[in-house]
Amino acid sequence: MITASPTPRLPTPIQGWREAWRDAITDVRDLLQAVGLAHRDDLVPPDDAGFPLRVPRGFAARMRPGDANDPLLLQVLPRALEHTGAPGYSVDAVGDMAARAGHGLLHKYDGRALLIASGSCAINCRYCFRRHFPYGEEIAAAAQWREALAHVAADTSIRELILSGGDPLSLATHKLAELTRGLAALPHVIRLRIHTRLPVVLPERVDDAFVEWLAALPLQKVVVLHANHANEFDASVDAACARLRAAGATLLNQAVLLRGVNDDADTLASLCERSFAAGVLPYYLHQLDKVTGAAHFEVPDEAALGLVETLRARLPGYLVPKLVRELPGDPSKRPIADFAR
Ligand SMILES: *Cc1c(COP(=O)(O)O)cnc(C)c1O
Ligand code: SF4
Repeated sequence: MITASPTPRLPTPIQGWREAWRDAITDVRDLLQAVGLAHRDDLVPPDDAGFPLRVPRGFAARMRPGDANDPLLLQVLPRALEHTGAPGYSVDAVGDMAARAGHGLLHKYDGRALLIASGSCAINCRYCFRRHFPYGEEIAAAAQWREALAHVAADTSIRELILSGGDPLSLATHKLAELTRGLAALPHVIRLRIHTRLPVVLPERVDDAFVEWLAALPLQKVVVLHANHANEFDASVDAACARLRAAGATLLNQAVLLRGVNDDADTLASLCERSFAAGVLPYYLHQLDKVTGAAHFEVPDEAALGLVETLRARLPGYLVPKLVRELPGDPSKRPIADFAR
């Protein structure tokens, strides 16, 4: 008897990421309409706190219809709560202003330099430090890349260049190619790391031209994705991840621990299992950066440690992310350690 074939299908090319980008939902009422909550006036915030709503339609389609507490919806919907100030919260929570080593280049940690390659994102996540970062001045675009690359060239201790942002994949592939052409001439740089949420929120971005560029890079390649909930993965994300892996990239995921979104052990375990099903290893579970407007997402360290302890008991060790926090002036992300309890 012949049954439906379980053979894995080859990932199909995805086209038209610019169109998908432009087509994003930017109006709260449109979003509520799209998720079947159009009747809920109480979900329409007084304003967007200076950080506009932005969510790609494909991502909105993964939200549960009619559920005002959907974990994907809560990540993007502006809320009146964002105006509630909290002690310890500021606009530059991770000290990036002080760590600048050249235009757009942050060299805080040994061996790794991070280039803010673009200030744009396809999605605006309410908990993100980016809501306050003055990208206009700091983006290492075009001419400024030369300055950033000159710093990397002059410091042979830098083994790895990290492209971050914003989202570096918001740049056209030919722009990325311009940037990495200079890297090939620097023998001390052996790895390129890309921090991006696009393969998750706009998987169309992982198109043929991008995959060809990535595959041809004469460097080790690491792509650190950002997904906070298993529901962010679907077949289109799986296909994008398969294409990235086929291009030779190691895939990792960083998540942010967010109250009401993923702050229970079942949800986190599902995230770790689901990302691995897409070929992505859990890397970091971040405690929230204390940025103004995000305090309602905070999970206390005690609760966070308890969650990770439960994950350790339930999952293979390689599926348990490291619980960390970024603090200004630290030589690395700081592990939130059990002995601190
Ligand atoms: C987070 C970060 C890195 C990368 O740290 P890893 O622990 O290697 O992931 C590098 N540079 C800066 C400025 C960072 O903020
Ligand atoms: S930088 Fe990442 S977390 Fe922040 S808004 Fe962009 S995609 Fe979201």
